[in-house]
Amino acid sequence: MSNKILITPKSFKAYKDKAYLMLRENGFEIIENTLGRTMTEDEIIECAGEGVVGIIIGIDPLPASVLEKCKDLKAISKYGVGMDNIDLNRAKELGIKVNNAVGTNNVSVGELAIGLMFAIGRNIPRNTADVKEGRWDRRIGVELTDKKLGLIGGGLIGKEVAKRAIGLQMKVSIFDPYFTDEAFLTQYGIERCYDIEELYKESDIISLHLPVTKDTKEFMNKDVFSKMKSSALLINTSRGELVNENDLYEALVNGEIAGAAQDVFSSEPPTKEEKLLTLDNFILTSHIGAFTNEAVEKMVLTSTQNLLDMLLA
Ligand code: NAD
Repeated sequence: MSNKILITPKSFKAYKDKAYLMLRENGFEIIENTLGRTMTEDEIIECAGEGVVGIIIGIDPLPASVLEKCKDLKAISKYGVGMDNIDLNRAKELGIKVNNAVGTNNVSVGELAIGLMFAIGRNIPRNTADVKEGRWDRRIGVELTDKKLGLIGGGLIGKEVAKRAIGLQMKVSIFDPYFTDEAFLTQYGIERCYDIEELYKESDIISLHLPVTKDTKEFMNKDVFSKMKSSALLINTSRGELVNENDLYEALVNGEIAGAAQDVFSSEPPTKEEKLLTLDNFILTSHIGAFTNEAVEKMVLTSTQNLLDMLLA
């Protein structure tokens, strides 16, 4: 009987003792991703083509063409939340169960979004680099207090950002057509925005906390940037595909918006030639949103338990 589990996320290793024991105690054999990077489609097929019943997947690709070749696959457990790297429709058709580690990294990503607001608002990375390179220069920044923060997406991460922003005395507005937690808005004094055009025009900072779908892909584009305040900052800790990066470059160079800070990019890592990286008013971190001791441990244990629940059900 097939009993192998493929585990792709690199960061699993630091907390693997407990997780591997959970799997082995239930009779499963583990195949690790030893490449030290995200696996390619061919590499996944090579490891999981036969005998693999479960995959714990990071951001490695699982399109239909890969799923169809993993003959014994019964369950996929996402190490994390965003499932845009998995063809969920094809998985369903093939009878492969899928689950994600909801509620494990929302605090970490929310904290990073707030950190990026300070980083771009006060030019912290550029200033630090200047000082280390021997220049005691100062670039004027902006306060967050009293600024209007427009959150697009009010799910688990959006709410963590909202709570913290209220603590910073910002004015917070959430645009999310599917939002239902009115009690949250009342409890924290947060506004609900029903007209996204208003949010574009009035926000001092816009922070993205929605998934990528065919409808949301590149919805931050030149048309939207032209409606934003020229002093506005864009924060993106969600997915690079939400932003048209060429249009963002033009908007930053032409002063249509003042700055952008992202933890994600359309192609990770970006190439050295990526022109956005040449701009002082653009910050990029290397998809570290969920990369904290606390979130990694929770993601490892939750994704392992989710896989066991699906396979042993
Ligand atoms: P979530 O599912 O809890 O919340 C997403 C919210 O977006 C939902 O409330 C949904 O109603 C809303 N939404 C959907 N379509 C929308 C639209 N068109 N306009 C406005 N709102 C819309 O998800 P989450 O855990 O809060 O994650 C949010 C994003 O963060 C995802 O894209 C996820 O991939 C990303 N993420 C990034 C990292 C990282 O390391 N940087 C880590 C975890 C998650």
